[in-house]
Amino acid sequence: MGSTCLSACGAELSGTADTAAACWHPSPNFGPRRDGLTPSLIVIHYTAMHSASAALQRLCDPSVEVSAHYLIGAEGHCWQMVAEDQRAWHAGAGQWCGFDDINSRSIGIELDNRGDHPFAEPQMVTLERLMKDIMSRWSISAQGVIGHSDMAPGRKIDPGPRFDWPRLACQGLADLRSCDEGPMDPTFELFRRMAHRVGFTSPVEDEALLSAVRLRYRPWARGSLAADDFIPLGPSSSRS
Ligand SMILES: [Zn+2]
Repeated sequence: MGSTCLSACGAELSGTADTAAACWHPSPNFGPRRDGLTPSLIVIHYTAMHSASAALQRLCDPSVEVSAHYLIGAEGHCWQMVAEDQRAWHAGAGQWCGFDDINSRSIGIELDNRGDHPFAEPQMVTLERLMKDIMSRWSISAQGVIGHSDMAPGRKIDPGPRFDWPRLACQGLADLRSCDEGPMDPTFELFRRMAHRVGFTSPVEDEALLSAVRLRYRPWARGSLAADDFIPLGPSSSRS
């Protein structure tokens, strides 16, 4: 259990954060998790807004009907808006590993970032601390850490090409996969099958699937499907 933040968030707000370092700033935009589900995924987002305070306002606005469990500012400040055992409204339509209703299965973390610039160091440090906390509290594995674009290919692109997935993977906070080389004859049929096995099960067009896999593993890649696109879809080498 954490403490209620009395300074940065306003003394009138009551409640408690699940994480000691988070500042409790409740959003009305949540409901109960369905079918008795508990979090088995963490979904990472960027806000695509100009400031954390603007994002906080939007994520707590009842007329907008969106939220997340956490928002992390560029300076590393962390706000919690929805209790972890409740269903925040961050993921929307999509699928991961064959499962839909990702909101009922996940904890959503928003990062204050416009989407076109690197993520700040203090923000990454706070994110990593928060993730360790959440992953141990809910027994979430590295394989359960995904980006919004992973579950909603063709619809969402956050946390985007600037997000440092390898940095998280090195710490066991995201999945690390690879095989030695791609196939001699790269076909979308094989690519789809391998991507599906990793978790990319949303029914989308070939190009949307390729874009989503590249955003996650090879954000620099351009052009048509290549043998190298298959390499990150190999066996998992995560520590957890
Ligand atoms: Zn998002």
